[in-house]
Amino acid sequence: MDCLLGKALTKTLQASESPLQSIRFPGRMISFLQPDRPLDQHQRPLGVLRLSLTARCNFACPYCLPDGQEPDGVLTLKERLAVVGAAVGQGVTSLRLTGGEPLLNRELEALIEAVQPLRDQGLREIALTSNGSLLDRARAQALRRAGLDRLTLSFDGTTAESVAQMAGLGDRARGEQTLYRILAAIDHAKAAGFDPARAALKLNAVIVRGRNDDQLLPLAQQARHQGVELRLIEAMDVGTRNGWSPADVMPAAEMVHQVGQRWPLEPLGRTPHGTAQRWRYGDGQGVLAVVASISAPFCGDCNRLRITADGQAYTCLFASQGTDLRPWLRPVPNPSGLSLALGRLWSQRQDRYSEERQIETPSAARSAAEMAYLGG
Ligand code: SAM
Ligand code: SF4
Ligand code: SF4
Repeated sequence: MDCLLGKALTKTLQASESPLQSIRFPGRMISFLQPDRPLDQHQRPLGVLRLSLTARCNFACPYCLPDGQEPDGVLTLKERLAVVGAAVGQGVTSLRLTGGEPLLNRELEALIEAVQPLRDQGLREIALTSNGSLLDRARAQALRRAGLDRLTLSFDGTTAESVAQMAGLGDRARGEQTLYRILAAIDHAKAAGFDPARAALKLNAVIVRGRNDDQLLPLAQQARHQGVELRLIEAMDVGTRNGWSPADVMPAAEMVHQVGQRWPLEPLGRTPHGTAQRWRYGDGQGVLAVVASISAPFCGDCNRLRITADGQAYTCLFASQGTDLRPWLRPVPNPSGLSLALGRLWSQRQDRYSEERQIETPSAARSAAEMAYLGG
């Protein structure tokens, strides 16, 4: 009996993101709170760790504007591993590697390999967000071999001009070369086994009104043709450099309307803790998604923790400041101290900036941190 209950418990713990668990055990429901899985001040569990591997990027997208150089004291591979281990211990089931441009980090594959054993402790998914320009065939295969589950590639335009403008590349020739590389990256990713039909490959497009909103239908068409889910993202007011104004935002509802006029869409909804509302093409040609961070915020079940390349933990894209984790990492990682620090940080979390923005003037304490530093 004890043994059966133990097995049922283990299965439930591994299968769910919520710290409040219920299991059915011969004829009755048993509810319990998972140990070591803190809830924040709005009862939200920790589920996703977005780990930035570099603040640098080979693009200069005007809506993001990354730093040209790394901050001081970036984490080592060993320190990153300790951070991921502690975060998994606090409930993280999904690790998203990001940047800046994460493919600039030569230890990326080594990190992916090194975190594999954490799958036994609850880590279920390892994903990467990249601009794709450095993803050649060999790199795509190396990432897959290392144990990467999912890949999201940024793809903001289908013409040389729009790519050059959205990636801040200056001239049309570089736009053309980059467009070619991104399209090739999609092929390399598929060939390496990132199957879009299993959601292992997706495309992200930030849509900025007046800059690339004319790309909406061509992007959707290209994604349909490739059989890849396209996620259209509202331009966000993160950081202080990108000159964001409300006029930059094309509301997700308008994007869906435009695409739906051309190819009818049926709503699929938003998965719990997800960022995207998803729609199915009526003709069976795949899925479109929108991330409505501005017009329909989803703070209510936000479960994301961000850790920057230099080890600052942010509980929100708009948090007024990060928490430096390096005191628990140097001179050598202190796993129990790190776990306690993350658990404490998460249980004190109150952030719901995007929802507050809709009902009141945003707090003056909003983050000055840039998107490429925070990892998106
Ligand atoms: N360089 C990689 C890339 O572009 O995919 C990863 C880092 S980037 C900071 C992560 C995500 O943030 C990308 O999908 C990017 O489009 C998105 N992003 C950056 N700035 C944004 C903004 N102001 N509003 C909305 N999304 C933004
Ligand atoms: Fe680089 Fe990604 Fe920022 Fe563009 S969005 S500048 S690719 S980090
Ligand atoms: Fe999460 Fe902050 Fe974004 Fe709200 S504004 S969804 S709390 S990161």
